[in-house]
Amino acid sequence: MSGTTPEPPARDPRTLIPECAGLAREAVLLAPEPGEPGMRDSSLGGGLLWPADEPWPYCAEEDHWTYGSDPGNRTPIVPGAVPMVPVLQLFARDVPGWDFPEGKDLLQLVWCALIHDGHDGLVTPRLYWRTEAEVMAGALLAEHPGVSEGEYDEDNMPQPSTLSPRVARDYPRWIDLPAKARESWEPRLRSDSGGSLWPADSHHVGTKIGGWPAWTQSADWPDCDGGHRMEHLLTVTGDIQLGDCGGVYVFHCRRCPGLPWDWRFDCY
Ligand SMILES: [Zn+2]
Ligand SMILES: [Zn+2]
Repeated sequence: MSGTTPEPPARDPRTLIPECAGLAREAVLLAPEPGEPGMRDSSLGGGLLWPADEPWPYCAEEDHWTYGSDPGNRTPIVPGAVPMVPVLQLFARDVPGWDFPEGKDLLQLVWCALIHDGHDGLVTPRLYWRTEAEVMAGALLAEHPGVSEGEYDEDNMPQPSTLSPRVARDYPRWIDLPAKARESWEPRLRSDSGGSLWPADSHHVGTKIGGWPAWTQSADWPDCDGGHRMEHLLTVTGDIQLGDCGGVYVFHCRRCPGLPWDWRFDCY
């Protein structure tokens, strides 16, 4: 035997906390890159495949306003409904690692790019599930309506981006664990220097579908009206400025008919 010091045993928290393994969920990281996505591409901020006979969604909130190009200058927008903006479009063929609801293969998310006075202000997303073949069987909307130039809050407008989805194993943030688990696991996860060995690097912060929410603040899971804890559907964060908003998180319940959904956002 040589006189070398043996390597310290590996201290993978997933070994220290065997229960940890059960928390792994599959996420599809969407990795947006600025580009020119087409209407039949999965995209962030790109054009949506939209039936010509279906009205484009408008936000009817009162009191729209924007900072526009001057952060110090709050500019009210003429009252009235404003068209929403495309945020995310995902075709099932581009995210093979994620199960779409039965019979659906296209997900679309839009939101309002202006700021509201009521209910904490931001985005008010809407979610659509479709079947690509059904949309393609009819006429398509050539161009979605836009409000006049300069009125959008650019912070809330995703730059048109193509996606490079890849499947990754995703773990929750420490704050997303039940308090009981945190209490009993914490001593086992304390490193020699007093820090935590929780695998922070296995929690993916970024725009993704599936996996765990990329909360920047406390966890805040919605329940559906049927009393079920909803499932994390997608997170939009990191790749887009949302004012001082940390991220937008969309949840849904697959156990209830009609796929009820809800959303949350948090701030830095
Ligand atoms: Zn609005
Ligand atoms: Zn439910």
